[in-house]
Amino acid sequence: MTYPIVVYGHPILRKVAADIGKDYPDPEQLIADLFETMYHSEGLGLAAPQIGKSLRIFVIDGKPAAEDEPSLADFKKAFINPHIIEKNGDLVPMTEGCLSIPNLREEVNRESRIRITYYDEDWNYHDKVYEGYAARIIQHEYDHLDGILFTDKVSPLRKRLLKSKLTAISKGRFEAEYRTILPGQKIKQ
Ligand SMILES: [Zn+2]
Repeated sequence: MTYPIVVYGHPILRKVAADIGKDYPDPEQLIADLFETMYHSEGLGLAAPQIGKSLRIFVIDGKPAAEDEPSLADFKKAFINPHIIEKNGDLVPMTEGCLSIPNLREEVNRESRIRITYYDEDWNYHDKVYEGYAARIIQHEYDHLDGILFTDKVSPLRKRLLKSKLTAISKGRFEAEYRTILPGQKIKQ
């Protein structure tokens, strides 16, 4: 099923999400729902807090960006209980957007190389290095699990300029092709 996307200003986007226990009833369903919601809203990645679940899991499918970066064509993955254990490489600027912050795009600097540990949907443990665009998408989604949004990472000047736009978004003044949950609205589980 597709979930509505939680929008900027909702407190769940600022919570540090909890690890998923191995006794979590149906991780396959949660992963399927995250992918379905992500495809429906045309994102490259989606983290559980964005569908109102404060859990450490995100999904990515880089295929739509494969024109710019061919290596993303088969980068489709769910990351359960991920931990970025190293960040290095150059700080690279790139324009980002976020389904939780509709129609707003800003340049963000991120490290070009990360090392991350995580579990896949079968609870196999992985320890992997990612670079370039893949590392960027992972860092963006990973930040959601720590209550961090890409707009937190723009320059102080840009931040001041964005303030009124973000306030407008949090009040529902935006157009989106997908269902959303505004800050004052209750999340149905
Ligand atoms: Zn996002």
